[in-house]
Amino acid sequence: MIFTTRFAPSPTGPLHLGHAYSALVAHDMARAAGGTFHLRIDDLDQARSRPDWEAQIRDDLHWLGLSWPEPVMRQSERLPRYRAALEVLWQRGLLYPCGCSRADIRAAAAAPQEGAPLHGPDGVIYPGTCRPVTPPTGPLPDVPLRLDMARALAALAAPLSFRETGAGPAGETGTIVPRDMVARVGDVALARPALGASYHLAVVCDDADQGVTHVVRGQDLFEATQIHVLLQRLLGMETPVYHHHGLIRDETGKRLAKRDDARAIATYRAAGQSPADLRGLVGL
Ligand code: GLU
Repeated sequence: MIFTTRFAPSPTGPLHLGHAYSALVAHDMARAAGGTFHLRIDDLDQARSRPDWEAQIRDDLHWLGLSWPEPVMRQSERLPRYRAALEVLWQRGLLYPCGCSRADIRAAAAAPQEGAPLHGPDGVIYPGTCRPVTPPTGPLPDVPLRLDMARALAALAAPLSFRETGAGPAGETGTIVPRDMVARVGDVALARPALGASYHLAVVCDDADQGVTHVVRGQDLFEATQIHVLLQRLLGMETPVYHHHGLIRDETGKRLAKRDDARAIATYRAAGQSPADLRGLVGL
């Protein structure tokens, strides 16, 4: 097994210090293992993705000293692949249509009889408004779809687990066994309005098709990993090793955001900093 990892930015803003750290950690791990580092463009959200952001991201990564095989995988070219994965889950009776907006979900989850709304990896946990009693049949419809979490978990032949070589936000490491996913995660969206697929569905297809053996990414995605491992099992894919790294925060402890131009790599470059200076800034 050749160590294969990836850095998968969404071209919706500049590369900042937090992204650079993630890319450098993944690239360094691949180099140390004599493996491969891929750049992948997560441009599923075509309305927010821009070619000039992608060009800037590539330029910044090259400047940092990173290289990767070309051509790169881009999500916007893979909608038929995601549709094929949805088809498998649909045929197994694990999906159902749901047209609820985020506002509908917040309102339903905040209804007085529901108590305080619970939050999962995707925000407020879906209260199940559209979940049918029996799985829908017929051809896969071209509408937003959710995974019936209880049904999906019941379809597994063995319990879920994955190997974590970094750490989750509460220090979780080693063999992680996800629990209580019906209550803590709920029926996640797998086909989103206008996008055709959701991040969760796209990322598992992409990692599987690129032969990714090690997913290296920030701790902010640790809670989403259980969803990815579940989808891999339902779709007959190998589960890679996960390595979640700590997040780069500003002086006040806040996570860096894409809009935070002060920490954009381009800003450091314009100020005359070197790639080695940036490695030092993120503690590498
Ligand atoms: N495009 C995602 C992000 O920027 C990638 C997440 C992942 O590495 O799975 O957060």
